[in-house]
Amino acid sequence: MNQFQCPQCQGYISTSNQIVFTAESESGIRGLVCLSAELGNYNVAKNENFELRDGEFVKLYCPLCHTNLVGRTKHKNLAEIILITPENKRYPILFSGIVGEHCTYKVQEGKIAESYGIHAGKYDLDFEGLIELM
Ligand SMILES: [Zn+2]
Repeated sequence: MNQFQCPQCQGYISTSNQIVFTAESESGIRGLVCLSAELGNYNVAKNENFELRDGEFVKLYCPLCHTNLVGRTKHKNLAEIILITPENKRYPILFSGIVGEHCTYKVQEGKIAESYGIHAGKYDLDFEGLIELM
């Protein structure tokens, strides 16, 4: 099973099948958002009163240290978390903080190794030297 860590505090932010964030909508409403731990699965679990519109930019924070996970790279729309594979390999994962924008990138040695989602072509992915691999 994939596990996920916060790139800032190294805390574990995933359960067995979900990644948990604290989030804030453009209108300033805050709530918990759970994304699938399966890369390329864009199911979202959240409180039904925490409404998010398609196209809305959502701030995503680490639930443990409250670091803003969006905008850590030059791509201000993309959030960054760390994937730990069952083989104990670690990769930065970038995904869009815009609701309904389905793109996810697995970064290896400063380059995109894998991409997921129907909007994966949206971002110009020159990540050379932009992400410090741990
Ligand atoms: Zn953290």
